[in-house]
Amino acid sequence: MSEASIDQSMPCPICRETIKVGALKCRFCNSDLRAVTDAQDAESEHILYSGHPAVIYSAWQWLAVFCTLGIAYVYYWLESIAVTFHITTQRIKIERGVLSKLLESVELFTIEHFDVYKPLGMRLAGYSSVRLRSSDASSPVISIYGIDGLEKLADELRECSLRERARRKITSIIQP
Ligand SMILES: [Zn+2]
Repeated sequence: MSEASIDQSMPCPICRETIKVGALKCRFCNSDLRAVTDAQDAESEHILYSGHPAVIYSAWQWLAVFCTLGIAYVYYWLESIAVTFHITTQRIKIERGVLSKLLESVELFTIEHFDVYKPLGMRLAGYSSVRLRSSDASSPVISIYGIDGLEKLADELRECSLRERARRKITSIIQP
């Protein structure tokens, strides 16, 4: 073992004894340090999606664009840029309005139902929408739509929601 690797030490997050960086187990308190790192990862917030919904997310919109010789596209484009989704592993925020921002925000752990809808028009265009029902009375139902791979994202959100619930339960037991 070289001098350099001995120098790379850190305090154990559990018992504070000095241990090697990258150790899987603490040699003093025998804590599984990988589990600790995983828990810290779960606590940190990652962005899953940030952006506007697609301009066209339903076959009926394509039809309208066709029938109005493209004029409807401008309308749908304005509608799309007026909505911004910020979806992270902990919360969903929806901004509405180009100039005056109205913000809807819901914490994932308050979400009780994830319903995926695939009406015909959206299915033909390759999109779906997800309706989230929250126990938070300020925004009980929010919808996300016009996002590529939304069903996969919904599965991920469902997992994050369960994890957040579990984590909060544990925290509430630890805290007096
Ligand atoms: Zn330790």
